[in-house]
Amino acid sequence: MEFEAVIGLEVHTELATKTKIYCGCTTEFGGKPNTHVCPICMGLPGSLPQLNKKVVEYGMKAGLALNCSINQVSRMDRKNYFYPDCPKNYQITQDEKPLCHDGYIDIELENGETKRIGIERIHIEEDAGKLLHTKFGTLVDYNRAGVPLAEIVSKPDLRSPREAVLYFERLKSILQASKISDCKMEQGSLRCDANISVREKGSEKFGIRTEIKNMNSFKALEKALKYEFKRQVEAVKNGKKLTVETRRWDETKGITEVMRSKEEANDYRYFPEGDLVAINIPDEWIEEIKNDIPELPHEKVERFIKEYEIPKYDAEVVVLSMDMGNFFEETAKKSGDPKAASNWIMGDISKLMNEDVIRVEELKFTPMHLAKLIKLINEKTISKAIGKKVLEEMYKTGEMPDKIVKDKGLVQNSDEGAILEVVKKVLQDNTSSIEDYKNGKTKVIGFLVGQVMKATKGKANPQIVNKLLNEEIKKL
Ligand SMILES: [Zn+2]
Repeated sequence: MEFEAVIGLEVHTELATKTKIYCGCTTEFGGKPNTHVCPICMGLPGSLPQLNKKVVEYGMKAGLALNCSINQVSRMDRKNYFYPDCPKNYQITQDEKPLCHDGYIDIELENGETKRIGIERIHIEEDAGKLLHTKFGTLVDYNRAGVPLAEIVSKPDLRSPREAVLYFERLKSILQASKISDCKMEQGSLRCDANISVREKGSEKFGIRTEIKNMNSFKALEKALKYEFKRQVEAVKNGKKLTVETRRWDETKGITEVMRSKEEANDYRYFPEGDLVAINIPDEWIEEIKNDIPELPHEKVERFIKEYEIPKYDAEVVVLSMDMGNFFEETAKKSGDPKAASNWIMGDISKLMNEDVIRVEELKFTPMHLAKLIKLINEKTISKAIGKKVLEEMYKTGEMPDKIVKDKGLVQNSDEGAILEVVKKVLQDNTSSIEDYKNGKTKVIGFLVGQVMKATKGKANPQIVNKLLNEEIKKL
């Protein structure tokens, strides 16, 4: 019997607004406990919430970037539950009428096929505070209470832990590129719950599902789902009864553990939030937000492959950050050599940037500099090897490459007569290599080219060196 997983994800993302969802407190991460608070986000009696318009905008933007329809009239609801991190004893969220519904994300499977994953709904809500378990007992910090969230609920269309990760990764790249959220997973501004059940392949019926809470890395999500898949399959095979339950992923033990079973699940007694009016969204507002969505990373990758004819691998690497993608595009346009642009960015430039842990915006040189460098090499003014040195200098100082070449006297030597002399000298000094060559070890040519380049401080035109060496050695 072969089994498959049925997985749906609920992703929570903190929206990038400056202030909280129902008050003017800052959304900044961290801070001294209980300093980013006011009577509204503390839920003090008599305080009234006011919906932050920006939160609705970011929520709509998420919906439109994820191909959803917008509910032009939506509503906030109260979800009642008691837990110390929730100061009002209810969360203001959206139940029956979410802001967005019925969207999708296309993911690319490892076999190259594209699969469409449905998005059921996106609603906006407030985050809870944080409990701190200390030696003084359990303390509570309400700085995060009221930070705006969008909850993005997928349909149960995912069929393996790997597909779940691919979906979550693409979702993150879309949210980040549209600047809807900073998506800092280590700070909890993007986290996910997963629903998973198993069934025999080919069956249409759903199995008994469990929910795994609060995973904030792709690795944790994949590991937890793999573990849970195996656990459920074994239970089904052994005729054990599975129960609907909420589980927690324990990273150190590498297992999921029961938090609570659904029999004891809360009844949230949702009802409309009487302190807030309905949200009315006119067509023009939707249009305005739509126009504000930038080209998304996967769209950029496709366009780069088509427009600049670079390999898919290159396109994916340069689009890892939007700024890097823009840097590539400008260099490609200015130099007329897109492949050289992606090579430099993926190779030497990334290496230098990684060493210094800097981002594209912090580079001292511009696409114009890099385009000039590419032209100098293509016009054979300098060799590629010298180009690497010029790049390092350009990276350090921000000087234009032609100036660096001129100041340092790095122009490539294509004077055949002058190179021939060096070639002859190198052959004289390396008689054993000539013997090797005659004995069929033609690889020594590489060594000899290196010697000539060394003698000319890298300035000799390598094609000419190669040509002359091959000619001369045959004469001997
Ligand atoms: Zn507040």
